Amino acid sequence: QSHQRVFLITGANKGIGFEVVKKLAANHPTDLILLGSRDQKRGEEALAQLGSPLNVKVLLIDTSSKESIEQAKQEIQKKYGDHLDVLINNAGIAPIKSDLKALKDTFNTNFYGVKQMNDAMSPLLRDNGRIVNVSSEAAALSMKHCSQDLKTKFLNPNLTETELEELFAPLFKAVEEGKDPKTVGFDPIKYSALENFYLLYYCASKLGVTILTRLEARDWNKKYSTKNITISAVCPGFCTTDLNNKAQGTRSPELGADSILYAVYTENLENGQFWRDGSRLPLESE
Ligand code: NDP
Repeated sequence: QSHQRVFLITGANKGIGFEVVKKLAANHPTDLILLGSRDQKRGEEALAQLGSPLNVKVLLIDTSSKESIEQAKQEIQKKYGDHLDVLINNAGIAPIKSDLKALKDTFNTNFYGVKQMNDAMSPLLRDNGRIVNVSSEAAALSMKHCSQDLKTKFLNPNLTETELEELFAPLFKAVEEGKDPKTVGFDPIKYSALENFYLLYYCASKLGVTILTRLEARDWNKKYSTKNITISAVCPGFCTTDLNNKAQGTRSPELGADSILYAVYTENLENGQFWRDGSRLPLESE
């Protein structure tokens, strides 16, 4: 087996993901860092901005597209040694509208994108492999404001991935029918005083990915029992990036990257947990 470790970071052409690549490239001169970008040109520009280090390659990947994920996987298999050691699911979007398309787009990248990535890429992970699903404290906000019935269901330790997806179906139906999401247990009113960034759809998608992380940790203990894979959800903290129109007075994307790298580097990390800056972030009712 190759000694060269392979890291893949999605949505890494800018923002927090770019800072993660920058730090990994400096820390691992003899390993391979795949800078994921859904646009080849933006990826190449980011690589040039890093000074085109030899240990970083651009990998074209749109995480909302199964075809694109499959193509990227084939490229890893053919060109980059057919394995992964660390996958950081960082690509994410924040909606700026509240129509059904905005809900679908948000979930397609922030929730289904992560699930599809992990389904496709986890078989490539080698022993002691790590996955970080970049989530947000918005997940805790979403949990705080949803109905007691939903809270209980989200926290059910026997929940399956399919059942998790089904918990969001009433939200999609309500939005499609123009009904208040509150009628199906997702309360948007408490978010209305906040910025667009905190819209209900974003918070719900990040809750989904945080719960998904727990389910994957639980199921992969059996599925990949000999590999010692650790999967974590991480909040990078409120960082100044394009996602929030470079909101002022917040932390730098470099600090967000450090929050993510904690879950890459810390030994004996408890599996399936939710972290920010090395501390556990609890969800409501825990
Ligand atoms: P940016 O908007 O700066 O970067 C997002 C990155 O994701 C871009 O590279 C973007 O590519 C990429 N992306 C979006 N959709 C897709 C897709 N379908 N496939 C592949 N790449 C995609 O945001 P941040 O750096 O702030 O966000 C990074 C992560 O951190 C996100 O998951 C976000 O939700 C999370 N987060 C951010 C916080 C913050 O305060 N900034 C707080 C909490 C969590 P392109 O350039 O092509 O648009």
